[in-house]
Amino acid sequence: MLPERHTPLPNGSKDLPEGPVSHQALSRQVTKLNTELRHHAATDVLRAALTTVPRLTLVSSFGAESVVLLHLTSMVDKDLPVLFIDTELLFAETLVYQQELTERLGLRNVTILRSGNIAQTDPDTTLHQRDPDACCALRKTQPLQTALHGFDGWITGRKRFQSGSRAALAHFETEERGDEARPRIKVNPLAYWSAQDVQDYMAENRLPRHPLVGKGYPSIGCMPCTSPVKPGEDPRAGRWRNTKKDECGIHFENGKMIRSGALT
Ligand code: SF4
Repeated sequence: MLPERHTPLPNGSKDLPEGPVSHQALSRQVTKLNTELRHHAATDVLRAALTTVPRLTLVSSFGAESVVLLHLTSMVDKDLPVLFIDTELLFAETLVYQQELTERLGLRNVTILRSGNIAQTDPDTTLHQRDPDACCALRKTQPLQTALHGFDGWITGRKRFQSGSRAALAHFETEERGDEARPRIKVNPLAYWSAQDVQDYMAENRLPRHPLVGKGYPSIGCMPCTSPVKPGEDPRAGRWRNTKKDECGIHFENGKMIRSGALT
């Protein structure tokens, strides 16, 4: 049985409810949701999130597997706010795919986020070579964190199979950001999906693939930091190849930004 509807507030409103939400109170809510929904389908998780998290958004890269969660979301609520970060260094194929997919799925509330500080901070577009963490902070993390200020929770496409640090990922989790008093809820409807589940879902629903997947890119980020992957390589091997970096830093665990050992 799904939880009762929370007093709704308009999605995307910038007016946060009065007073802080304690981490303990949010943790209790998260534990309850995880217990109730452990064996439920991803759409049940999405519906429960929509009825319990007042201001909720979906963050999507419109990457190699994003179509699954976007399709599920489109069946539950086409007006759910969707945030897409345009780093201004994405592949042209990603930008076209984002537009085509948004239209095809009928998503009515997609916002494209861009940093307002790129011209000043990275005028010659070399920051990704000199300091990729700073580049990701400038082009991804900062615009996303600014946009998330208006929300009580966000939905991600993370899955248990993606990395060791996500092996215990649950449908719901609290996000402690360390620098802010107010924790948020993160919702992971695909937490228990396998890689095969993802492929099967795309095939069964005849969903359009990102055009670069067929060209050897099983994981797609910014153009300068993404290379094709050879057969047998880890699907993420082409992201920040030959560096220790494998995370852009948009996720926090225990109040700390995750820069490696986990996937976006
Ligand atoms: S993935 Fe590369 S180009 Fe994109 S924001 Fe991060 S460092 Fe910069």
